[in-house]
Amino acid sequence: MIDIAIIGAGPAGMSAAIYGKRAGLEVCVFEGELCGGQMIYTPEIENYPGTGKLSGAELALNMRAQMLDLGVTLKEERVTAVSYDGTYHLTASGGEYEARTLIIANGAKRRHLGVPGEEKYSGRGVSYCAVCDGSLYKGKTVVVVGGGNTACEDALYLANICEKVYLVHRREELRAEKHLANAVLNSEKVEKILCAKPVSVIGDKKVTAIELDINGEKRLVETDAVFVCIGLQPENGIYAHIAELDAAGYIVAGADCRTSSPGLFAAGDTRTTALRQVITAASDGAVAATNAHRYIKERS
Ligand code: NAP
Repeated sequence: MIDIAIIGAGPAGMSAAIYGKRAGLEVCVFEGELCGGQMIYTPEIENYPGTGKLSGAELALNMRAQMLDLGVTLKEERVTAVSYDGTYHLTASGGEYEARTLIIANGAKRRHLGVPGEEKYSGRGVSYCAVCDGSLYKGKTVVVVGGGNTACEDALYLANICEKVYLVHRREELRAEKHLANAVLNSEKVEKILCAKPVSVIGDKKVTAIELDINGEKRLVETDAVFVCIGLQPENGIYAHIAELDAAGYIVAGADCRTSSPGLFAAGDTRTTALRQVITAASDGAVAATNAHRYIKERS
């Protein structure tokens, strides 16, 4: 039986795996997509001490290599159901698994605008990842929607590639950290359109424009792409019967990462926390694995 099953191989899951394995436990990580989670979409990690100039994707690959070198089992499978009867039972795309403890580190997914045209033109001009798709719009015009760190970072990243970048934000002030917000505000390449709510994405075969509502007035901005950078939302529906969720869908867990179920831990962006960063996720992973180890020792 697995000692610690970990769902998600972002910084929280990979850090948990490293700590669990080094404690001598049988650790298995389940990841249905690429290892790294949200950080693989980050052009440059500036606030993780000691990395120097490194992209999120590079940091993700380093963490993955470290985890695998230690002998952690990585199952590239999506977990679709979980139950608990004193043991955790996982149904994954490749089979059924049993574990003494479970760490949920599945992060959060990119939020969608939910306006007409967004889904229709997804992959045809609507994108959720500047690092992945930015190069497709070299020398072109793009719109970035959002006012947080991601939107500002992505607007600056795209300003190096594209001819023109619009940053569309629904408030007068950007929510991003000051140095990022200032960089955007001072950038001549990024035109700020504030107090503007996206109404629809317009196109023919591909995106041609975005329609905005600016204080009740409609404005059409012609663009080749719309980058939606409006934050994250958790996807914890399959855990609702074993873990308490808050109103927004995050798993209720404190700094010790313990949840309402015995032997069940939540680490990183998926749990109720004030700060969602690579470093806080990695820290959570260490805490969750250490507490899972304690839990196993207490019962053996
Ligand atoms: P965020 O901080 O939650 O910001 C989301 C932005 O999108 C906000 O400005 C919000 O507007 C706007 N928004 C939300 N829903 C919207 C809608 N339906 N229509 C229009 N605008 C909408 O998200 P994020 O920037 O993706 O960051 C997510 C987390 O990752 C944060 O904790 C952030 O600190 C972290 N992060 C950190 C770094 C870094 O440290 N370098 C980089 C990237 C992300 P309001 O302001 O009006 O709410």
